[in-house]
Amino acid sequence: MSETIFSKIIRHEIPADIVYEDADVLGFRDVNPQAPVHVLFIPKQALATLNDATPEQASLLGKLLLAAAAYAKREGLAERGYRAVINCNEDGGQTVFHIHVHLLAGRKMHWPPG
Ligand code: AMP
Repeated sequence: MSETIFSKIIRHEIPADIVYEDADVLGFRDVNPQAPVHVLFIPKQALATLNDATPEQASLLGKLLLAAAAYAKREGLAERGYRAVINCNEDGGQTVFHIHVHLLAGRKMHWPPG
């Protein structure tokens, strides 16, 4: 996988507002928030898109979602609810090719998302 800005965040080479970390996952605030709470959860291991995930990475994908849910519970966001999104490739709106779950919360979400 090619180098992305998120690789630099993992290596602490560029600053990020890190709000969650465990052995496999890093969570930091999005620089261009789309909701009052907008946190990105990324695996420390390189994986470009959801398309590239292998069956061996099923647990890693689960850990991303569980990290987002753990953060939401810790921050008191879980009961009102939130949205967890993975954008994939061009039509999905992916711009950084290091897989990430967007956690959006703090306002009512709309559906369809458009
Ligand atoms: P996506 O469009 O799904 O690939 O999402 C990429 C997200 O990364 C966007 O919401 C950007 O605002 C966010 N982003 C890009 N660079 C940074 C950065 N250095 N720190 C935090 N968020 C970033």
